[in-house]
Amino acid sequence: MTYALHTFSLPMTTRFRGITEREGVVFEGAGGWGEWSPFLDYDTPEVEPWLRCAEEAAAGDWPAPLRETVPVNVTVPAVGPERAHQIVARSGCATAKVKVADPGQSLTDDIARVEAVRDALGSSGRVRIDVNGLWSVEEAVAAIGVLDRAAGGLEYVEQPCPTVEELADVRRKVDVPVAADESIRRAADPYRVRDLEAADVAVLKVQPLGGVRACLRIAEDIGLPCVVSSALETSVGMAAGVALAAALPELPYACGLGTVSMFTADTAAEPLLPSAGALPVLSTSPAPERLVAEQALRATPERARFWQQRLEDVLAYRESLR
Ligand SMILES: [Mg+2]
Repeated sequence: MTYALHTFSLPMTTRFRGITEREGVVFEGAGGWGEWSPFLDYDTPEVEPWLRCAEEAAAGDWPAPLRETVPVNVTVPAVGPERAHQIVARSGCATAKVKVADPGQSLTDDIARVEAVRDALGSSGRVRIDVNGLWSVEEAVAAIGVLDRAAGGLEYVEQPCPTVEELADVRRKVDVPVAADESIRRAADPYRVRDLEAADVAVLKVQPLGGVRACLRIAEDIGLPCVVSSALETSVGMAAGVALAAALPELPYACGLGTVSMFTADTAAEPLLPSAGALPVLSTSPAPERLVAEQALRATPERARFWQQRLEDVLAYRESLR
């Protein structure tokens, strides 16, 4: 089985993972559209679950939603306090994720940013910090206490250190809940996080973990509260993350699915952007009209050939596993 691929290349407003253009493909199945957009540095076995997620969406095979909207967080990059205040105040979100530990900055900068975010949110808002694995255990223990006070209470700290073992160590030494993000990249990872008691919260992404139903099983198995986050999908792929968030029995935290705004344009005519801090739950992915009908945002023929070959490699890899 192969698919008629439409390859997109979307300019981004900010550099992320060293890229300024997000590439991927969408294809139509019997039940709707799916997006397959694994990052370019992932190899064939790694991108196979990403394809399962797209196939599930294109088959129209999502579980029934338990809610009509999904709350999302605003993300505050490593900017100054005035800009941070502005980003949060304009977002309409009640939860802010603040990037800290930027290599070019000091803990003093992080404190000022976190204080400004709390001021913008008011006392009822929630502030979480994302370290992207940049602290040692010692740095984490010292900084988390300081930033917890500056924030007037942190909701959780995301990926304070690079390894699962370090997360477990930090978790035993601080009172702020710890979330695992980069430590969960493949289907086996959430189980390791659980077994080592390394986190209080698991960040799940539907594409790398093999789709909505696969993530629901993982969430049930590991028994940890889950936050659904994007892998920087366009609106077509984002709808799958929203479908997972809508189907989770418990959703105690705002999700990291408000990232379509990081593109200057989108594959869908009506981008999946938050309103009043929440995204609508859709029964299928929005159709990528802009890409398919208007022929905007298309990648070059060379890049389209690359994605066709990448798909064929994954399908051949699957055959080899039979
Ligand atoms: Mg993160």
